[in-house]
Amino acid sequence: MDNDASREFMENLPELAPGEKFCFDCGPEVPCFNRCCAELTLPLTPYDVLRLRRQLGSSSDDFFQTFVRMRSFPDTGFPLPLLRMLDGPGEPCPFVGPVGCSVYEDRPGACRCYPLGRGARLDGDGVNERFFIVREPHCCGFDEGTERTAQEWFENQGLTPYNQANDRYMRLISLVRATGKPLEARMATMSVLCLYQLDKFRELITNMRIFSRVDVDEARQAAIMEDSYEGDCAALDFALDWMELIIFGESQGLKRK
Ligand code: SF4
Ligand code: SF4
Repeated sequence: MDNDASREFMENLPELAPGEKFCFDCGPEVPCFNRCCAELTLPLTPYDVLRLRRQLGSSSDDFFQTFVRMRSFPDTGFPLPLLRMLDGPGEPCPFVGPVGCSVYEDRPGACRCYPLGRGARLDGDGVNERFFIVREPHCCGFDEGTERTAQEWFENQGLTPYNQANDRYMRLISLVRATGKPLEARMATMSVLCLYQLDKFRELITNMRIFSRVDVDEARQAAIMEDSYEGDCAALDFALDWMELIIFGESQGLKRK
């Protein structure tokens, strides 16, 4: 679904008013357990890929070859990797098994958010959020569930770091959308490498001597190059600044030397 289609889809869903509660619980005890983990169009954000790759311990090349179908946003040209469902009956998610999700601790943000949809928009005061309920006929999670607000659900599902990272990416996409033109092919390719392939981005930093061209202190350099979860977060943060700098010639978080 492109951005307009996804916005239109959300607008037709029931919206949760601020502070309003909904009832939902999901777990192995529900009769529909695992039924929603198949035949999905599941977009992966840079932070989703960061978490999944860490969990699987795979290189970005292996990850993309095995688990991703690549698309792009038509209006901005930014990459839109989709989690590749398995071929065959029912097209299950590659990570679903009889006992549930094998990457549960690092499952994508969309899986955590469900059955809510989050509409986020940047305005003068920061990020403006709206929440919608996705109620599908096969899903029994609404039958008997804990009452929670959207915020409580997001905390329960560990969504805070996902939303923070995704909102930063949304800012970059919004800046490009505001130009009215999609990224040039060269920049679109660069954005795959920098935002989704942090192992290759580190190689690029070394080969292009990027740190000698921008103002990054030594502590941040060390954090970016560290091969760990924290290092990946620092590298993604830097990648977002770097992409803004090379697309627009300036960036809020990074200055040329
Ligand atoms: S990643 Fe996990 S939770 Fe998400 S669809 Fe696949 S099996 Fe289900
Ligand atoms: S309750 Fe809904 S979210 Fe949970 S397994 Fe069933 S269909 Fe999936």
